[in-house]
Amino acid sequence: MDRGVRCEVCGHPVRSAGEGLRVCAHCYAVTEEGIGPWTYEPPSRRWERAEMPEPEPHHAYGFVNSTLCGLTGDDIVASPYPWIPERPAACPSCRTAAAVIDARWPAEKRLPRRIRSAADIENGAPPF
Ligand SMILES: [Zn+2]
Ligand SMILES: [Zn+2]
Repeated sequence: MDRGVRCEVCGHPVRSAGEGLRVCAHCYAVTEEGIGPWTYEPPSRRWERAEMPEPEPHHAYGFVNSTLCGLTGDDIVASPYPWIPERPAACPSCRTAAAVIDARWPAEKRLPRRIRSAADIENGAPPF
């Protein structure tokens, strides 16, 4: 945890995840140093499926060696597959957690970040 560093999405303290990345334990936003928060993704596209000793239910992978619903263990790692909350095999607690985390994103932070083009600047478009 870096003292005093706050999440640009929800304002909660964030912790360093190494390599210039910070993650927020509240809204799970990932912020890249010098660039800003990664673009918002809806719950159905956002999570990787956790690779676990038991194949079902499908848990969503959260932070280091943990699932969204709070299971932890050295044998919990991210799989190369997306976690699809609509699948019947999806863990209901992970589904709930994903919905709660999603609700912590203010509407204005869900928009993709706009990049001004040279033409916009020439036309005097407002900088946002
Ligand atoms: Zn946050
Ligand atoms: Zn779960």
